Amino acid sequence: MNTELYLKIKEKIHNVDCIVIGAGAGLSTAAGVNYGTKDFKKLFPELVERYGFSDMYTSSFYDFDTEEERWSYWAKHINYLCIGMKATNIYQDLFKLMKDKDYFVLTTNVDRQFLKAGFDEKKVFEVQGALTKIQCARTCHNKLYDNEKLIKEMLKEDKECKIPTRLIPKCPICGGKMDINLRKDGFFVEDDNWYEHNLAFEKFINDHKNKKILFLELGAGFNTPSIIRYPFEALTYNLKEAYLIRINNQCAFVPNEIKEKALEVQDDIANVIKNLLS
Ligand SMILES: [Zn+2]
Repeated sequence: MNTELYLKIKEKIHNVDCIVIGAGAGLSTAAGVNYGTKDFKKLFPELVERYGFSDMYTSSFYDFDTEEERWSYWAKHINYLCIGMKATNIYQDLFKLMKDKDYFVLTTNVDRQFLKAGFDEKKVFEVQGALTKIQCARTCHNKLYDNEKLIKEMLKEDKECKIPTRLIPKCPICGGKMDINLRKDGFFVEDDNWYEHNLAFEKFINDHKNKKILFLELGAGFNTPSIIRYPFEALTYNLKEAYLIRINNQCAFVPNEIKEKALEVQDDIANVIKNLLS
């Protein structure tokens, strides 16, 4: 990427009143928190042998015969992509760039990387849930439960891709199955904490609507564009002093209506952030 473009991004980041980060899958992929096939066979030979899995993404759609097997799989998935993973360099770099700014984060990533890197929990809205929480699979009540201790126990007692029956979580209210708190169907629990963050985001936008507000979009593609991509375009269009920087290695284009108020940065996110710090 050319120096002029970097200088322009730097100038924007330093001269605005506040920054709204919108993070999509592309950011975590660039950070190496991904579902890729690269190390899968080495890390999970038993999953390859037993189910023929090749990566952590497609495997998460598998219909397991038993709850013992399903939770054995999810314990490995959650531990690999979340519990066992520290803040990656790219998220740490992003925090260094943002820590002294007035910021708010909207993310569709469920790996908790923003929190691990030091971002303020009150200012990070994890719209699509988190791998470290479980909920009633039938959403009989809207409460979430931390699963870290349970997942660690499952991993310790895992045998031949099964966990012991006694470790299978049950809904404390209806006695039914539990599920990871990920938005994948109509049974996603939005708890009080979710609504508080949703309100905090609206308040942040409202409080800054007449100020210089920068929408910094990182790797938000077209999987769920209605959460970050489209709202950022609309807010940039509607708020007088708003500006959008869209960093995406595949689809950085912005609509014509906001071309004057936006920067399309089609480049590797890790590269861009590293260069912004230098
Ligand atoms: Zn229930």
